[in-house]
Formats: sequence, structure tokens, C-alpha cells
Amino acid sequence: MIELKGIGKRFGAHSVFEGIDLSLERGEIIVIVGPSGTGKSTLLRCINFLETPDAGSLTVGDLTVDASRATREQILALRRRTAFVFQNYALFANKTALENIAEGMIVVDHMPKREAHARAREILERIGLADKADAYPASLSGGQQQRVGIGRAMAANAEVILFDEPTSALDPQWVEEVLGLMKQLAAEHQTMIVVTHEMQFAREVADRVVYMDQGRIIEQAPPSELFTAPKDERTRQFLRKIL
Ligand code: ATP
Ligand code: MG
Repeated sequence: MIELKGIGKRFGAHSVFEGIDLSLERGEIIVIVGPSGTGKSTLLRCINFLETPDAGSLTVGDLTVDASRATREQILALRRRTAFVFQNYALFANKTALENIAEGMIVVDHMPKREAHARAREILERIGLADKADAYPASLSGGQQQRVGIGRAMAANAEVILFDEPTSALDPQWVEEVLGLMKQLAAEHQTMIVVTHEMQFAREVADRVVYMDQGRIIEQAPPSELFTAPKDERTRQFLRKIL
């Protein structure tokens, strides 16, 4: 289970959000939508302390961390339970697809290199890139690079995978293969929090869609409800623009 309670974040004088509450059951998939600058990325980044939240507490599985008193050990433990997929893939340019996927298992999990590479090969099979094990990111398409990014998150064996606009940097022709891989993970009941503008994906895959606006969660509901009968005027206006 994932639970955020009273999460707040400010940059200097600018408060992005305060008092954010959000919870997910294991296996649940939520999609967060909302206007630009609303705090979606910041919220996602607070969940694994890529940004340090100023207030509130985070529970991921059996670990609860109080934001204002988090120790280094707790933050590392939290990061092991959460994996992040970045908009721009953030792969190591000087490592092959296989090495990118194996890296975390070697460095974070202290897995012997042979074993990590064997697991990375299994993951390359699952993401349909078995033949690209020795390819460097620069020689892969955007879609392939992002699949490696997702493969790396899969290797972390995390409780939850956090996706921040995973397809928005891609040329249109690569979007479907990345969404397809995310659907595959969803079918395996991987717990996921996805920030995306891909509304068709949200409709098909999300258990719940969360609408965020100006640092607030305005409403949340299953996609069938939120997309057809939004309760708040702000949600209605946003959806009118994007659907
Ligand atoms: P988008 O849809 O454009 O990705 P978003 O909902 O992800 O937007 P955030 O990137 O979380 O929005 O930004 C929320 C607010 O916090 C914005 O006002 C942004 O300018 C501000 N912000 C984000 N990161 C930083 C930072 N490192 N330093 C200062 N301000 C920041
Ligand atoms: Mg963002």
C-alpha cells in the first residue's frame, strides 16, 4: 500500500502544494492529470525524495517516513521501494541497454554481476529488446530507450513505479510501443502512478484518475466516471480542452 499524508512542498517563497493526501492499494494504477505547472511532477518526485517534501508522511509497503525527520537510511529504503521512469529516459549514455538495466541491481541491491546480467537479459526479453542487449542508448530509437528506462524500473522490483510523462518526449511513432509495455505491466498488476496526457491510456488502464489543479487534488474517480461526469467546474474545463 502507498499512502501520502499531508505532503507539502515549497520552493523558496512559492508553495507548490500543501496537505496532499493520496493513497493506493497494491496493484492499483492511478493516472494524474492536470494543467502545466500544477505540481504533478513535483508530487511524483516527492514520493521518492528526488525532491524533499517539507511536510507530511509517506508510507510505501511496510515503511513509513516522516518527511521533516527522514534519515538517510529511510530515504534509501524508500527509494528501493519506488522506481522512477523519466520523460527523457535518463539512461547512462556510456552503458549498454543490458548494463543500464543491470546497474541498479549491482549498485543498489549488491547482486553479483553475473546474476544481475542474467536478470537483465530476462527483462530485455520481457520488454522485447533481447536483440539490443549490447546496444548503447544513442543507437536506439526513442521508444526503445524508454523501454529500457522502464526495464530499469522493472529491475528495481519496486512496490510502485512512478512514471512522469513517459511518452511526451517521444516522436509519435514510438508512443504506442511504450504505452503497450506499460499496459503489459498493468496487466501484471504492477502498482503504478502515471502522470500523462494520454487520455486513451488513462481510460483503458487506470483504476482511478486524479485531477490536480494549482497544487490541489480537485477530484479523483474511475476514468469512466471522471471523464463522463466530472463534478468540479475546473475538471470540466480541463477535460473539454484535452479530450
Ligand atoms: P507540467 O505539466 O508542465 O510538467 P507539473 O504539473 O509537472 O507541470 P511541476 O513541474 O511539478 O508542474 O511544477 C510545479 C510548480 O513548481 C511550478 O510553478 C514550477 O515552476 C515550480 N517548480 C518545479 N520545480 C522547481 C524547482 N526545482 N525550483 C523552483 N520551482 C520549481
Ligand atoms: Mg511535469
